[in-house]
Amino acid sequence: MPIPNMYCPNCRDTSPCATADHRTSKDFDGGEDQRKSDKRGLGINWFHRVRQCPVCSEIFATAELDEDLLVKLIDLFASTSELQGKIREYLQRRENITDSSGLPRSK
Ligand SMILES: [Zn+2]
Repeated sequence: MPIPNMYCPNCRDTSPCATADHRTSKDFDGGEDQRKSDKRGLGINWFHRVRQCPVCSEIFATAELDEDLLVKLIDLFASTSELQGKIREYLQRRENITDSSGLPRSK
């Protein structure tokens, strides 16, 4: 099977990244099972795989999961980012019209 071209999160190159021993991962937890589940019981499951970049030698972990779930996670990430922006705007506006106690700023 050919080695797939993958994006390296370190050097940002896309090149054939071979599978590396998962025990070399910086987040190796001592477990031999590469099938992982979220610790909160949300039912999110993935396969943990470690790759090595041939350009910069970085060893990085990837997760194989159902693509529909990935799309949902991307949507949630986008919604969360949008909400955080709105909260920042609200707090900025509030700060401009109130003092640190939350009372209207006196002029
Ligand atoms: Zn790299």
